[in-house]
Amino acid sequence: IFIPLLGAALAFYFYSAPPSFNEEMLRGKRVIVTGASSGIGEQMAYHLARMETHLLLTARTEAKLQKVVEQCLELGAASARYISGSMEDPSFPEVVVREAENTWGGLDMLILNHIGHSTFNYFDGNVGHIRKLLETNFLSYVAMTTSALPMLRESEGSIVVVSSLAGKVGSPFAASYSATKFALDGFFSSLRHEFIMDKVNVSITLCILGYINTESAVRAVSHVLRDKPAPKEECALEIIKAGALRQRELHYPPWVVGTAVLLRDIAPEFLDSSIRSSYRVENLKRT
Ligand code: NDP
Repeated sequence: IFIPLLGAALAFYFYSAPPSFNEEMLRGKRVIVTGASSGIGEQMAYHLARMETHLLLTARTEAKLQKVVEQCLELGAASARYISGSMEDPSFPEVVVREAENTWGGLDMLILNHIGHSTFNYFDGNVGHIRKLLETNFLSYVAMTTSALPMLRESEGSIVVVSSLAGKVGSPFAASYSATKFALDGFFSSLRHEFIMDKVNVSITLCILGYINTESAVRAVSHVLRDKPAPKEECALEIIKAGALRQRELHYPPWVVGTAVLLRDIAPEFLDSSIRSSYRVENLKRT
């Protein structure tokens, strides 16, 4: 009786176990990474270079992109180039995608990661700033996806959207940023349904990140936030793995983000008060 049972258990395991990540999955793939001149985007570029992918990197600062591209080539990228410009310019997303099309004639993975500058403070009533931030943090993601979709359909590729815990749970001092991140969840979670219903084999991975030790994040919040940031190198690798495995969502760091998302639905007031108590408000200078 044990042998058939063992056989059934093994068959169940092999058919139902989630696929595991293997760097070979990405070798030779054509990948766009936005916001690749610093922080998590830069680290993703380095991991992808080691995996021998073809890279097109973008951000505003040409000098930084040049250095990242050089480093990617040293690390083993199959090819690496950059295109600089601002996602505040509504025509730029299409320019980036055209560059990929003209260079490679196709695309396998689109990693949307850039963000525009926003202050970490009480909401100051600046509606114009929210409009601008929506252009950079949200509308450019939609525009890049729209332009890249024909190539991604063809390659049965992947879209990776980098979001935040502030895009799942309300957080103080980041109202404008949080609004743009919630918008990403609404748009891309809706689009994922449509792809499945329409048999479009393009995966959408929404990455919900907690506090990560990038220079800009540490500079903005370390004097106010009690939490310890997670490492950007590991975070970048987890994002790439989740995209390659066509995961629906990534929660990183898993324990912190997973718990917050769970509490949001079962104990929202408890979660809200824990969030408020994790800030040293006395260190925040009102602007
Ligand atoms: P960084 O500030 O380190 O990097 C932001 C990138 O976006 C840079 O490459 C920057 O380059 C680029 N960028 C800024 N403005 C524009 C613009 N107008 N047009 C085009 N590119 C622009 O950010 P992180 O690495 O910390 O964050 C990366 C992602 O992770 C973001 O989506 C963020 O929301 C998310 N995240 C990060 C967390 C953290 O704690 N670090 C927490 C939760 C989510 P340049 O200035 O040269 O244009």
